[in-house]
Amino acid sequence: MQQIDMIISAPHFYTMEGDGVGYLADAAMAVDRGKIIAIGKKRDITAAFAGEIVLEKNHHMILPGFIDAHMHTDIDVLRGLAQDTKHWMMYGLSPFSNVLTGEEETLGGRLGYVEALRGGTTTFGDFNENIEETCRFVEKMGVRACLTPEVRDAAFKIYEPGELYEFDTAMGERSFGDNLRIFRQWHGKAQGRIRIFFGPQGADFCSLPLLQRIKKAAVENNTKIHMHVQQGDRETYQIVKRYGKRPIAWLDEIGYLDSYLLAVHLTDANEEEIRLAAQRGTSMVACPGSIGIIDGIVPPAAVFQEAGGWVGLGSDQAPGNNCHSMINEMKLAALFTKIKYQDPEKLPAWKALRMATIEGARALGMDGEIGSLEPGKRADFIAVDLEQPTMMPVFTEPMRNMVPNLVYSASGSAVETVAVDGRLLLGKGRHLTEDEEMIKAQAQECAQVIGKKGAAQFWRVNGSNAAMMREGKL
Ligand SMILES: [Zn+2]
Repeated sequence: MQQIDMIISAPHFYTMEGDGVGYLADAAMAVDRGKIIAIGKKRDITAAFAGEIVLEKNHHMILPGFIDAHMHTDIDVLRGLAQDTKHWMMYGLSPFSNVLTGEEETLGGRLGYVEALRGGTTTFGDFNENIEETCRFVEKMGVRACLTPEVRDAAFKIYEPGELYEFDTAMGERSFGDNLRIFRQWHGKAQGRIRIFFGPQGADFCSLPLLQRIKKAAVENNTKIHMHVQQGDRETYQIVKRYGKRPIAWLDEIGYLDSYLLAVHLTDANEEEIRLAAQRGTSMVACPGSIGIIDGIVPPAAVFQEAGGWVGLGSDQAPGNNCHSMINEMKLAALFTKIKYQDPEKLPAWKALRMATIEGARALGMDGEIGSLEPGKRADFIAVDLEQPTMMPVFTEPMRNMVPNLVYSASGSAVETVAVDGRLLLGKGRHLTEDEEMIKAQAQECAQVIGKKGAAQFWRVNGSNAAMMREGKL
């Protein structure tokens, strides 16, 4: 009998292998040195292996950990300050984001990590300004992450409506140089749990020479370009005015539409443009909760998928979503798409679950390692408690109801165990590597200070949140 690190067994495994959800009944998984080495019938696995740790999850379903393909945890400390408003960035976010210090961003971001892990996220697609601090935190916490520092050369200033952005060469040089340095320092670190992507903020925020240098670096270093693409009419306006073409057509012309590009949002692209991006091998991240709250738009995931592209899900950020729950994103992706097309058969629960797991892994170019439970892949898995009221009753014969219940009725608290590389990070619903109470207290302390610092600008900008506050509606 082979001695290994861990055996985990449960009545229900959803491996996500194949084209569906890869269901296995009465199964077990053998884990050694961070990897899955076998998965199958419990009696066969327990006959072949002896685990140092044996987890018997008798009323659970086991799944691959969720992949949150697009987040900005550096603004998580502003949760709940910027929703239900037009011009989200200007009226909602900026009065407070303008006064944030790097330390406040870092401390608030940790709250996002403990929140997301609780909800079953094991891979964090974080795009933020303090990425080196995030690298250190990810290394210590034990999660997996694709981390992207922001690169731009469009100068920070208040532009008149219709004014073209000014490019600041020194800023572009500095932010691109930082991205390269962070790539060299952190890519593949934390026992391979950290990947570094290149992060042009958007086609409008970067000059052509800067975009070309980023593309060359991504190809040379064989890593992804994580970029907001056609995220709004502001971007479309800038690109059309500057280059005489809409963003997708222009990106195609400069060689950006290919498998290196992870395109976030695509909310201002038309169907033809979306199909072109998918056909070129670009992958997409849809953030239904965030884009619903910020723009009142349904991300065009279904069009992208129908054109053959891979779509992952992202929770984006806390001041306009307002959470990092992949269970929430799965439900919203499915629901919004059904509503948009007035078709209940669009984006069924099993498809939403694939987007949060294996298809998200494909979008990130990581399906060789994660996204499904198969021998050879990393042992990133979660156990969902089927005795939570929202998961009950459980039907097993002839009809199973666990996937629809997970997508449409579960809350994050149903996630009872989370492991990355076979290491338990959450057990019985408690964090095992982080002091959650301390992280919450530090974020709370920041909030008291930020509220006071941002107040004058909040009232001066006088967005709809200020009006609601005055009228006693918040
Ligand atoms: Zn974003």
